[in-house]
Amino acid sequence: MSLFGVASPSPIRPAKASPADVRRNNRRLIFSLLFPTNQYSRAELGRRTGLSRVAVSDVVNQMLGEGLLRETGQAPSGGKGKRGTLVSVDIDRLNIISLDLAQEHILHGAVTNLLGQSLRHAEITVKEDTQVSIETISELIEKMLSMASGEVIGIGIASPGVVDGGTIRTSTLRGWHDLNLAEPLLDTFGIDVTVTNDATAAMLAERFFGQGDPNMLFVRIDSGIGSSILINDAPVTGEMHAAGEIGHISIDLDGPQCPCGKRGCLETMISGSILRKKLANASECQRIAILSQAGRHLGQALSMPVGLLDMADVCVYGWPDIVNDTFIDATQSYLDASTSSTFHKHTIVRRCECGADMTVQGEAIAVLSDYLGY
Ligand SMILES: [Zn+2]
Repeated sequence: MSLFGVASPSPIRPAKASPADVRRNNRRLIFSLLFPTNQYSRAELGRRTGLSRVAVSDVVNQMLGEGLLRETGQAPSGGKGKRGTLVSVDIDRLNIISLDLAQEHILHGAVTNLLGQSLRHAEITVKEDTQVSIETISELIEKMLSMASGEVIGIGIASPGVVDGGTIRTSTLRGWHDLNLAEPLLDTFGIDVTVTNDATAAMLAERFFGQGDPNMLFVRIDSGIGSSILINDAPVTGEMHAAGEIGHISIDLDGPQCPCGKRGCLETMISGSILRKKLANASECQRIAILSQAGRHLGQALSMPVGLLDMADVCVYGWPDIVNDTFIDATQSYLDASTSSTFHKHTIVRRCECGADMTVQGEAIAVLSDYLGY
């Protein structure tokens, strides 16, 4: 996956590009400039992309007809020549169905617009020790489709675990192994399906709508623990699609047994679920001690990737009772002590402020990215 709208796009001109290839690339180039909230005239789009007036008009008109763009009024007068009509992303016509499967006991679905903003919500409760089946996911999609008011361009599923195309290679939280989600759902609904790791989906929202840097380590701590790495605005997937699977790196080989087979995985030590159990009957003093230690464990786990990759921005998403100031300060102190030096700049650890909807929002961006062929 590449990340549109963030990295400076450049025209892609393969040696033997067909007219259809050229048109597709021009379309991506122009959409990148407008997403999420920019508005430009056709002439300005031509200046910014280097494309001819005819080429710009061709793809803009196509995207206007398709419902991806809309005209939003006249450009301010810029001296000689007539004023152009501004175009922007149309958020009213097309819908996306976006699902967040990262919460242990709740499957969350949303109908979103093209900016990933939720228009309608629905949830399905998952009973204790029940494995989520494709039928249950279909049921939620069915419900969301009945709530959509516009044409649905794709279905997105943000799942915990290792995601390889449309298949979940492994998800400890959901108990899935080599589960192909995309194919049966495409067969059922006849709509393209995008599957994305939940941390990567949330990171997309943080980058487009939050404070994320082009180089960012994004960590997600809720029922499980995952992370996603962004380098020069490109998400890193890894050789086996498992980049960012920080939850199952052991930080204590004698630690608690993890369902993945190892001991002392970060997820068995400081996942939100584990910490909530530890905090259940704790005094205020014990709470601070538990969360400080959890923050230090995260700092320990992150010190190598932060130092190795020279990361300046570490963003932690999590439940507010877990990822609080005590937790973040402890992670920051550990990273300062373990990575800062004369040749390595200070890394900032911060809490993600995007809110609970960020996973479905980021997943909708992943769907749009696939739809446009990025
Ligand atoms: Zn594990």
